[in-house]
Amino acid sequence: MQEAFTSHLIHRNDLSNTFSSSKGAATLGAKESFAIHLALLMALLLGSLQAQESKPVMTIEEYDPRSTLVVPAHNVVSAKFPFIDVHNHQRATPSAGAVDTLVMEMDKLNMQVMVNLSGGSGERLKQVIQSYKGRYPDRFAVFANIDFRNVDSAGFAERAAAQLRKDVANGAQGLKIFKNFGMTLKDSKGERVKVDDPRFDPIWRACAELKIPVLIHTGEPSPFFDLVDKHNERWLELTQIPGRARPAGEFPSWEELMSEQWRLFARHPKTIFINAHLGWLGGNLGRLGQLLDSLPNVYTEIGAVLAELGRQPRFARAWFIKYQDRVMMGKDTWAPSEYHVYFRVLETADEYFDYYRKRHAFWKMYGLDLPEEVLKKLYYKNALRIIPGLDKPRFPE
Ligand SMILES: [Zn+2]
Repeated sequence: MQEAFTSHLIHRNDLSNTFSSSKGAATLGAKESFAIHLALLMALLLGSLQAQESKPVMTIEEYDPRSTLVVPAHNVVSAKFPFIDVHNHQRATPSAGAVDTLVMEMDKLNMQVMVNLSGGSGERLKQVIQSYKGRYPDRFAVFANIDFRNVDSAGFAERAAAQLRKDVANGAQGLKIFKNFGMTLKDSKGERVKVDDPRFDPIWRACAELKIPVLIHTGEPSPFFDLVDKHNERWLELTQIPGRARPAGEFPSWEELMSEQWRLFARHPKTIFINAHLGWLGGNLGRLGQLLDSLPNVYTEIGAVLAELGRQPRFARAWFIKYQDRVMMGKDTWAPSEYHVYFRVLETADEYFDYYRKRHAFWKMYGLDLPEEVLKKLYYKNALRIIPGLDKPRFPE
């Protein structure tokens, strides 16, 4: 047994030339044989230690294996149906040529309408609307933002709501709340402003009256709030960009932050909320489903969380079918080629293909192969119902 084991080891380590005496050892006495085997084993151990020293294991950032799997593959560069990207950010003062180029790129993707969430308010908002909708009235929608400076001054929310009414009169089609609200925004006493702080209720009520949706981004992926150790699924991202970590003590916990958001949704049932990034529950769609069941005024979108869907194609497909009236297409970062991966995950049944950003996902994607009617709702029907002023005839029945 021992001899066979040793020679197996020798062979495995490709050292059979150096240690070719294992057969000869059989003719020696048991003690000598044992001593030789011990020496051999030690030499092997030493050899493997040296090998490790001279050839270090590559880092996770370097490791980039190319798949040898051959299966049907579909590169989808244009969406099957025209779509509305409800989560996008564009600069405030583009040149006319830059807007023309943008629309050309949108055409290639079959993106009929882009929602630019970075409208700002007042004069800036007017300028953003003029730059985009002035040139292509039906290809853009612009959402306003709240200026949260002097957040706890007397009458802040009433003034913000009055400004919002003006912004909507000037063409804003929704309100976007950025993630600083609830996470880093502090009042004059240095206290964190909570997402469900009742002082802001006049703003949410105004949105209900104005019949505009509030696209709200609260918090970040839950692993950002966890210990950054070898078990953390976003370890690579948190190591490459350490500022993204949200350690306890400096930040509220993920549960605390999200609970505030959910309480806000429940307290304003007449206000339509679009919970950005699948509410950071893309990896727990069951829980997201329960939330949508209990809050009929809440919708969501898939910006920047595609990697969560592409790793659970069967469960995610069933979930999209069940919640087909509640989810919209969004992307967040404007990078045209990355949309191709969205289309491929949503539309095809392809298996084991690449996502576009390793720090979001060190795993492969699988297509959800969504039914056409579900795709249409995701791509445009739900957004047409929720966002006012969109050009319906642009889209098929
Ligand atoms: Zn965004």
